[in-house]
Amino acid sequence: MADDSIAVVDLERCQPDRCNYECKNFCPPNRTGKECITLRGEDAMEGKPDQVRISEEICLGETCGICVEKCPFDAIEIINLPQELSEEPAHRYGENAFSLYGLPAPEEGRVTGILGPNGIGKTTAVRILAGEMHPNLGDYGREPEWSDILDRYRGTELQDYLRDLRDGDVKVARKPQYVDQIPKQFDGKTRTLLESADERGVIERLAERLSITPVLDQDIDSLSGGELQRVALAATLARDADFYFLDEVTPYLDIGQRVTAARLIRELAEEGDRSMLVVEHDLAILDLLADNLHLAYGEPGAYGVITKPKSVRNGINEYLKGYLENENMRIRPKAITFEEHAPRTVDEGDVLAEYPDLSMSYGEGEFSLDVDAGQIHENEVLGIVGPNGIGKSTFAKLLNGALEPTEGDVDFELDISYKPQYIEIDKQMRVDVFLSSITDQFGSSYWDTEIAQPLQLHRIMEQNLDDLSGGERQRVAIAACLSEDADLYLLDEPSAHLDVEQRVQATRAIRRYAESQDATVMVIDHDIYMIDLLADRLMVFDGEPAHHGHAGTPQGMRSGMNEFLANLDVTFRRDERTKRPRVNKPDSQLDRQQKSQGEYYYAP
Ligand code: ADP
Ligand code: ADP
Ligand code: SF4
Repeated sequence: MADDSIAVVDLERCQPDRCNYECKNFCPPNRTGKECITLRGEDAMEGKPDQVRISEEICLGETCGICVEKCPFDAIEIINLPQELSEEPAHRYGENAFSLYGLPAPEEGRVTGILGPNGIGKTTAVRILAGEMHPNLGDYGREPEWSDILDRYRGTELQDYLRDLRDGDVKVARKPQYVDQIPKQFDGKTRTLLESADERGVIERLAERLSITPVLDQDIDSLSGGELQRVALAATLARDADFYFLDEVTPYLDIGQRVTAARLIRELAEEGDRSMLVVEHDLAILDLLADNLHLAYGEPGAYGVITKPKSVRNGINEYLKGYLENENMRIRPKAITFEEHAPRTVDEGDVLAEYPDLSMSYGEGEFSLDVDAGQIHENEVLGIVGPNGIGKSTFAKLLNGALEPTEGDVDFELDISYKPQYIEIDKQMRVDVFLSSITDQFGSSYWDTEIAQPLQLHRIMEQNLDDLSGGERQRVAIAACLSEDADLYLLDEPSAHLDVEQRVQATRAIRRYAESQDATVMVIDHDIYMIDLLADRLMVFDGEPAHHGHAGTPQGMRSGMNEFLANLDVTFRRDERTKRPRVNKPDSQLDRQQKSQGEYYYAP
């Protein structure tokens, strides 16, 4: 076939004992006697002998695609690579396996970001840069030689880095993506874990900055996700390394904590000769954090391309636009756009619930919450913002009658479908069985187009819940929450572990669901772009986390954002070209000007 095509067989999906080799039987070259699709055989380097291999020389390419359609398990992908992609891959995992094109280039004293979907090869790239595996330059049959690798990257930004890596001169520190796994790998006190990582003697100071001092003497398995995230960050930054790799620092952190994390990472880079590489899907934070940016695009699971570095501003703008200028490459049919102005007053729907001023306390000296009277409308998406531990879940429990206020009356009881922040659905149960146990609508064309498709559930329906990645689990949990029959849908941090595309898709699914089902949805999230794209109105929580919270009355987006960001002391300006909100430098001219005008987000 055209030599710019690849065939990818997902060996976890290819199940010859459950099919009749439809791929092989219907493949046109096979039908004329050629050996295009064959069995791997006993001497195969990967997979089982009865799984298939596809000859990329003989295959006719994407325009044929018959095997892709015929395979009952969606195990095959035939993809025409973009013509612009002239180089050979940096790495290919094997025959008919994932290939990675391009590598990010860490730079001393700088924070380099990678932005792209899940499954596109970011971790593969990092494993190469961490020296855990050698790039085979696409020749998977052979152990790569350092001399070939260095030849290939001579004259590029990576040359010096790879030479140091070969010489064993690169010491690496990594923060894993899924911090929920830490208690499974480490048993003991937080302090013990941090002390074992403290090569720079900075743990006390980092703990102070990240506000984890109070949990130092707690057992790791008693920490919340947000605490684990900060402990993992502290443990990574305390190492004395040359190359730091941080895979998603924002999940479970509130905005204040995100900004602190970003500042700590920047400070360490600015100390001089250390390189930082970060993968991050919260674009406002990525913008604040990185000095330059590689975009990653391709076909998740099949191939990924890491672009040359771009400025952070251009990189994010091009990503949102869906078109990469230097690469001349469209990565999405439509741009993701932000409204420049706050929505004018929304059509106020009927009132779903009206509550008076409320107070509630968990007991003498324990957390207490004051709620200002308010109304929740039918058919709206109400965004909820505020720090962690400020009483957002407590408020939800007042609405559904699980808690009684100590002052004021809630004279209704709403049936709430709730997606918690930390998702614990580690059951040995298939995704389709789980979802069909929640709704009769499962499998209907409505459910399919409104829920399953935007949340990309089809490819994971047959997997077990406990085999899912963090992002997959999140999508199943959002679907499960929206599929319940309820008066009010409450989603706590739906963005966690979703990549940017998935955040946009999930936003669409949630909005459309609210509109078409006349449903009321409340969304707690710390990704400010997600809240901006999602919410009609805003409810702002403030106070002193873990001690006392105050819930403001639901209000319009403009005044809500102003109140929320004033609490945080952060202002946003608009990118001139795309109107995307960008965090202002503290005390810059715009920052001061906007603060004096009281316009923190929708600045003119
Ligand atoms: P990301 O970090 O962008 O989510 P990864 O680098 O983890 O992506 O994975 C990219 C692709 O490479 C995935 O589709 C994954 O299935 C595949 N992959 C990862 N490790 C291996 C391996 N050892 N053998 C074959 N394929 C792999
Ligand atoms: P958020 O949802 O904003 O993160 P929560 O409403 O979950 O906040 O919790 C607010 C505070 O109340 C936290 O400090 C939490 O530890 C405390 N809290 C929650 N439940 C209880 C309880 N049953 N007894 C005592 N304190 C509690
Ligand atoms: Fe055969 Fe290639 Fe067509 Fe698949 S896409 S049926 S391998 S020619």
